[in-house]
Amino acid sequence: MAKRVAVIGAGVIGATVAARLLQDGHQVTLIEPESPGGPHAASHGNGGFLSPASIIPMSAPGLWRKVPGMLRDPEGALTIRWRHLPRLSPWLWRFLMAGATPARVEATAKALQPLLADTAARHMALAARIGRPELIRQDGLVYAFRDRAAYEGEAFSWDLRHRLGLRTATLEAARLRQILPGLSPDYRFGVMVLDGGHCTDPGGYVAAICDWAKGQGVRLHRARATGFEIEADRLRAVRTDQGPVACDAAVIACGIRAAALARAAGDRVPLESERGYFVQIADAEGGPAIPVMPQDGRMANLPTLTELRASGQVELASLDASADWRRADILLGHLQRTWPGLNPAPDRITRWLGHRPSTPDGRPVIGRASASADILHAFGHGHIGLASAPATAGLVADLLAGRIEAPPAFAATRFRRAR
Ligand SMILES: Cc1cc2nc3c(=O)[nH]c(=O)nc-3n(C[C@H](O)[C@H](O)[C@H](O)COP(=O)(O)OP(=O)(O)OC[C@H]3O[C@@H](n4cnc5c(N)ncnc54)[C@H](O)[C@@H]3O)c2cc1C
Repeated sequence: MAKRVAVIGAGVIGATVAARLLQDGHQVTLIEPESPGGPHAASHGNGGFLSPASIIPMSAPGLWRKVPGMLRDPEGALTIRWRHLPRLSPWLWRFLMAGATPARVEATAKALQPLLADTAARHMALAARIGRPELIRQDGLVYAFRDRAAYEGEAFSWDLRHRLGLRTATLEAARLRQILPGLSPDYRFGVMVLDGGHCTDPGGYVAAICDWAKGQGVRLHRARATGFEIEADRLRAVRTDQGPVACDAAVIACGIRAAALARAAGDRVPLESERGYFVQIADAEGGPAIPVMPQDGRMANLPTLTELRASGQVELASLDASADWRRADILLGHLQRTWPGLNPAPDRITRWLGHRPSTPDGRPVIGRASASADILHAFGHGHIGLASAPATAGLVADLLAGRIEAPPAFAATRFRRAR
């Protein structure tokens, strides 16, 4: 049955959910205070990777041993700012525990696999539907290593990916050079993720989905959601700073800001910003034609429509802490070492800080809220929000229509049990 659905947040998750709900004939209102896809949102500056290999969570066995180093080394790919450690500690503890054993990592990888398996194909279909096919490409993704031994050092993760159906081809030095002529000779081994793809303009993609959705009848309501009007377990309206939006159902899809609304809907979810940066070079020459992840730098090298972007770094601090642009400069240094032919003029370089909305176990929260079954959660996508958006939207649509039960792996209540 068609419903009036309020989708809160027009990042890649909210936009994709809105587009999917149209297919089921719902009357959709997108509530968003900013310009969809703008620099305020994680969806603006991400690495554009649509990788079925991204099923491995950040937390890994033995990571706890590296925490003192993370506190000491401001240049590492994962860093924690001292001052914020006391507030971060409960989240950090859960984060470390979530990956403490291979079995836990495997359980998360299995849960994420259906969200990511067909990511590029699903995005291609969406981009075609909105009339912007150039925004998604499915040319594969390369993970570049110094040598085969470095790849074999990650044997657990790659074996697990392969067991769960990932299709890859290994690239010896000559073949790697053929595909990526500008790559530093320091990289002598690669893995091509055959079903991988990328988005050529992540922020523009979100804006394009919203423009298209508007043309199809979705109402874009410029407001900030503040809570819910619930009567006898049934949702009546979403409260906003511009007045209530009457609806039969709501979807919480507002990224890093979702925790407060989830709480208003009866669920306490530990959500932290894994702060990430990008540096990008306009009209860059000497970079890759397809996306590359140099595994030592843990950063996505993405050719967008007009730039070469390097995005990555995980900085744990707080949402409001000031940016530490040294982290973007680390990315720039790495980018230049990876592609020695790059010679960017300073005025062609831009930098950005964004907030990955991250749960400690690396799984999103997708399912019904405790205060009312009419409120659905769709947030907490951490490092994989772009790639997993279409599958998330499919789950939301199926839940709303009563076609499926909520997947327990993504339930908000999993954090309640852990306390
Ligand atoms: C450096 C970096 C690199 C990344 N690389 C990749 C990658 O390569 N591949 C990948 O899949 N993912 C990647 N990610 C992760 C991905 O970008 C995020 O998971 C995803 O963008 C989250 O989308 P979202 O819609 O949940 O949140 P957002 O994009 O942040 O959007 C949330 C929206 O909600 C709005 N909002 C907030 N509060 C309210 C409110 N109260 N009422 C109404 N609206 C509200 C905001 O204004 C915003 O527009 C990366 C992230 C970063 C930071």
